[in-house]
Amino acid sequence: MQERIFTIVSNEPLARDTFRMVLTGDTSAITRPGQFVNLRIGGLYLRRPISVSDSGPGTCPAGLPGAGLPMDFLTLIYKVVGQGTEAMAEMGSDTELDVLTGLGNGFDVSRAGGRPLLIGGGVGVPPLYKLAKELTARGCAVTAVLGFNTADEAFYADEFRALG
Ligand SMILES: Cc1cc2nc3c(=O)[nH]c(=O)nc-3n(C[C@H](O)[C@H](O)[C@H](O)COP(=O)(O)OP(=O)(O)OC[C@H]3O[C@@H](n4cnc5c(N)ncnc54)[C@H](O)[C@@H]3O)c2cc1C
Repeated sequence: MQERIFTIVSNEPLARDTFRMVLTGDTSAITRPGQFVNLRIGGLYLRRPISVSDSGPGTCPAGLPGAGLPMDFLTLIYKVVGQGTEAMAEMGSDTELDVLTGLGNGFDVSRAGGRPLLIGGGVGVPPLYKLAKELTARGCAVTAVLGFNTADEAFYADEFRALG
C-alpha cells in the first residue's frame, strides 16, 4: 500500500450520475486488476474506496498542458450516491487528491482459462475493464456481460468491445 498525491487530468460525465476521473501519479503499487484505491475527500472523515478501472503508463490527453507526454495514469469510474461522490463530481482538472493505492488482492490472471466469462453490474463493471484488458493481452478470448439498472446508466460497452 502507498499513500500518494495524484492530480486530476479529467473528470467527465459518462452516463447518468456516473463520472470518469483520470488522474496522474505514482501507480507502482497497483499490481493486479480488481484492486481499489481509497480517496481522501476534504471535510469527510472516512476515505472513499473506488475500484481501479484502468492504470499504467499512457500519454497526457490532448488539450492539457503536457499533451502527448508520457504519464502514469489511473482511471476511476464512480456513481454519485452521496456526499463524497458528489464532492468528487465537482472536482476540476489540476485538483490534487491524497490516494491510498495498491489496496485489495485483485484477480490472479494466471489462473484464468482460455475463454473467461466476466459478469458485472453497475459500479461492479469498472474493475472488469482492466481485468478484460489484461486477459486479452494474455491471449484469452474474453466474454463480458455487463448489467445496468436503466439504459441511460450504461457505460463502457464500446470500450469492452474495442478490446476485441
Ligand atoms: C472495494 C470497493 C470498491 C468500490 N468501487 C467503486 C467504484 O469503482 N465505483 C463506484 O461508484 N463505487 C465504488 N464503490 C462504492 C463507493 O465506495 C461508494 O459508493 C462511496 O463510498 C459512497 O460515498 P458517498 O460519500 O458518495 O456516499 P455516502 O454519503 O457514504 O452514502 C450516501 C447514501 O448512499 C448510499 N450508498 C452508498 N453507496 C452506495 C452505492 N454504491 N449504491 C447505492 N447506494 C449507496 C448510502 O447507504 C447512503 O444512504 C466501491 C466500494 C468498495 C468497498
